[in-house]
Amino acid sequence: MTDLSALLTRCAVIYEPKGQAGEYAPLATNPYRGCGHACAYCYVPLVTKQKRHEFDAGAVWRDGYIEKLERDAAKFQAAGITGQVMLSFATDPYHPGDTMPTRQALEILHHHGLSFCTLTKGGTRALRDIDLFRPQSDAFACTLTSMSDTFSAKWERHAAPPASRIAALRVFHARGIFTWVSLEPTLDVESSLAIIDATAPFVDLYKVGRANYLKEITRTTDWAAYTQRVIAKLQRLGKPHYIKRDLQQYLPAGYHNPLRVPQHHAGRVAA
Ligand code: SF4
Repeated sequence: MTDLSALLTRCAVIYEPKGQAGEYAPLATNPYRGCGHACAYCYVPLVTKQKRHEFDAGAVWRDGYIEKLERDAAKFQAAGITGQVMLSFATDPYHPGDTMPTRQALEILHHHGLSFCTLTKGGTRALRDIDLFRPQSDAFACTLTSMSDTFSAKWERHAAPPASRIAALRVFHARGIFTWVSLEPTLDVESSLAIIDATAPFVDLYKVGRANYLKEITRTTDWAAYTQRVIAKLQRLGKPHYIKRDLQQYLPAGYHNPLRVPQHHAGRVAA
């Protein structure tokens, strides 16, 4: 058992994501139960066995979360183990409700020498916390499925519109923070390709997946052709990327597809 594995067995709210989530981050924490974004494709209620109407009703703070995070983060610090902790997989750190616990969580991680990454569809709501992000260690990420507000409103009912997410990416990038975009789920191939074109000037990394738990889209999309077009575009733009396991069967043999691209700007020389 590694030092990190042993440490994680003693933690309550910092954990090692498994499966598809594990492709996104080595460490994560979820301050809330539920998420008010009410995405039609959200599989969290399914895998966590929550009633969808309760999950969609809004995020509520997990019992004793801040105290537990404080204790977990102190254990990391005492062990001298640093790493980037992601918020969040089973909720959104910038959901439409009270997100002060998110700020408190980032402050605790910061205080104990851990770096962090937020992945959100909350758009410019995240700008409240931009002062906590450090170029040398932290990252800001958005999930984007479309550039269209109408399309997004259908699939991600209460999330911030795409323009707001893109605006947030621009601001974080301008502050020197590492930015990345999750192109998962891919609901429409042309939309995902258009997102890359629109965001490449201010996004440092793309993580690309397909649709999950959406039988019709999964069945009718030519995932091989999509993968080829995505990697051709990202290579042409010179953008680091990670193609998730569901699409890796369509990559050329030996394709360079690192799982853990460093998500920070440590060592970058200012222009
Ligand atoms: S933002 Fe994420 S966790 Fe929240 S409803 Fe949408 S997919 Fe689910």
